[in-house]
Parts: sequence; structure tokens; C-alpha cells
Amino acid sequence: MILVITGPMFSGKSETLITMLKTYITNQDKGFVAFKHKMDTRDVGCIKSRSGKSIECIMVQDSNHITDIVKQINPKPHYVVIDEVHFFDVGLADVVSSLSNNDINVICSGLKTGEGIKPFNTTAQLLAIADEILLLKRECASCGKQTVFTKRTVDSKDEFLVGDMDIYENRCRKCYNKA
Ligand SMILES: [Zn+2]
Repeated sequence: MILVITGPMFSGKSETLITMLKTYITNQDKGFVAFKHKMDTRDVGCIKSRSGKSIECIMVQDSNHITDIVKQINPKPHYVVIDEVHFFDVGLADVVSSLSNNDINVICSGLKTGEGIKPFNTTAQLLAIADEILLLKRECASCGKQTVFTKRTVDSKDEFLVGDMDIYENRCRKCYNKA
């Protein structure tokens, strides 16, 4: 099973991921291992929700690193969790496929688009192979309608600008280019 949780920033992706995982673990008492990319410099070593829930995770530099680590875990985990998948190389889709073929459930979370509503390729590929997709939404900061997009409020050419509400806000498609 491959589940992808996606949506804009501030839509509760990490919260949903942690809640789902805790439900699985309590109900079935199965092991899990969680990963995050080294580029994600917020909350190093843990996946944290805005409400303060958190789980420990391993920081990795690329998708192959996940394969190497999971191979060494014995008995194999029942769940592999990968947060902020948009930071990863496109090889992540193959890694996730082979974990799933090996009877490991994979729960991924991340942004599907970046600045200018441009797709993140890694998330796009994961969405294509997912068994289940959870699309979260949040109100547009301008008109209040539910949206799945996030816009930068500062000028930067960096594709992966790490930040929070200080430099990002949610905008619907119609309000995206409004000042
Ligand atoms: Zn709007």
C-alpha cells in the first residue's frame, strides 16, 4: 500500500501523517521507520505537527539512502514513512515501489507544487503510483476559499526555500498573482 498525503503548506499534512501512523501502530502493534531529507532543516531528527505531535525520524541525503537503511532493519518494518517528499530526487518513486512490492506499507507526505504552481516532479511521480491519495486544503489568505496552493511572500529564486508563515501563505488559483 502506498499512501500519499499532499496539499499546500499549513494544511496539516504532518499532523495527518502522525495521527494515521499512531492509529496503525496502536491498532496493529507494527513497527515503523520514518525518514526526512537533510535539506529540511526544520525540526532535525523528528517529524513535527503544528499542534506539537511528533515522531522520531532518520535524516537522509537521497532516496537510495532509504533503501540502504531499510535493508538493515530486522525484522523489516511494516511501515515506512517519508515526510516532505518534494525535497527528494525522482528516484524516490522506484524506492517506494520496491518497498511496497516487499510488503512494506509506505506513507508519504509533501507538497505537490512549488512557487508559481509548478509541479514538484518527485511528488507527481508518487501521486501517479499511489494506492491512496489524501488531498488536504487550506483557506486562501486573500479570499478565504479552500485552496491547495502556497505562494511565497518574499522574492527568491531558490526552488526549495525553507520557511514558514513568515515567507509563505496560501492562495487560490484566482488570487495567486494578486499583490
Ligand atoms: Zn483566493
